[in-house]
Amino acid sequence: MGADIFTMGVDVGSTASKCLILKNGKEIAGSAVVPAGTGTSGPGRAVAAALAEAGIGREDVAFVTATGYGRNTFPGADAVVSELSCHAAGAHALFPEARTVIDIGGQDAKVLRLDPEGRLETFVMNDKCAAGTGRFLEVMARVLELEVGELGAHDAAAARAAEISSTCTVFAESEVISQLAAGEEIDAVVAGIHNSVAVRTASLIRRLGLTEPAVMTGGVARNGGVRRALEQELGIRLLVSPLCQLNGAYGAAIHGRKKAKG
Ligand code: ADP
Repeated sequence: MGADIFTMGVDVGSTASKCLILKNGKEIAGSAVVPAGTGTSGPGRAVAAALAEAGIGREDVAFVTATGYGRNTFPGADAVVSELSCHAAGAHALFPEARTVIDIGGQDAKVLRLDPEGRLETFVMNDKCAAGTGRFLEVMARVLELEVGELGAHDAAAARAAEISSTCTVFAESEVISQLAAGEEIDAVVAGIHNSVAVRTASLIRRLGLTEPAVMTGGVARNGGVRRALEQELGIRLLVSPLCQLNGAYGAAIHGRKKAKG
């Protein structure tokens, strides 16, 4: 191992805990996503799994940066950094040309505008309402007796989309239940649910103004149905971070590399 410098980013989310270990600021040595967020055993388990994958111990990590909703409760962080900075840094490292970052997580949605050098210029956020967040998708998946990870495939199989007119999660849930009772196809309902998330996200984006290219990050970016719907709604192609849900932890580990000595 010798002179290798390992830095760790821990993103303690509302819904999921993410950990990513960078070797010398470049190579991803280990990473883990645990579907349990702040206030649970999730952060500790994510750290243990990422360390195991990297084949190193906690003592081999030169710098730990915590971010995310529960960042202030994470024990043993060398620095605590906002999710906005980390998502900006992660997206910029993978897509230096990106000017807009659309981050949809479990409990909120954020749209960031970056300057041409990748610095955060301004942002808008929805953290008041579950509609348009991962939580909305989790509620709907439960009604449909599906896992959130299965929604994308149903969307891809849909020949058309059902109309979900309610913008409120609770009313939209009733609407989905009555559509299913009336015999509507599950695939069409799933596509309608994704369209509804896309409409909410697009209105958030328009508040900021869309500067292309735009990259999607956060756990909801793993859902190809939301990507499809948002591209349709905006009329553009979106870049998708291959790290998706790990993007914040990646940005945090990059931050650590700048701080770590050596
Ligand atoms: P937070 O940081 O707020 O905890 P994340 O960015 O980790 O949120 O995203 C959590 C959301 O990601 C979940 O609410 C869910 O909608 C979505 N998600 C998680 N796993 C998957 C998956 N396998 N496929 C599609 N979507 C997923």
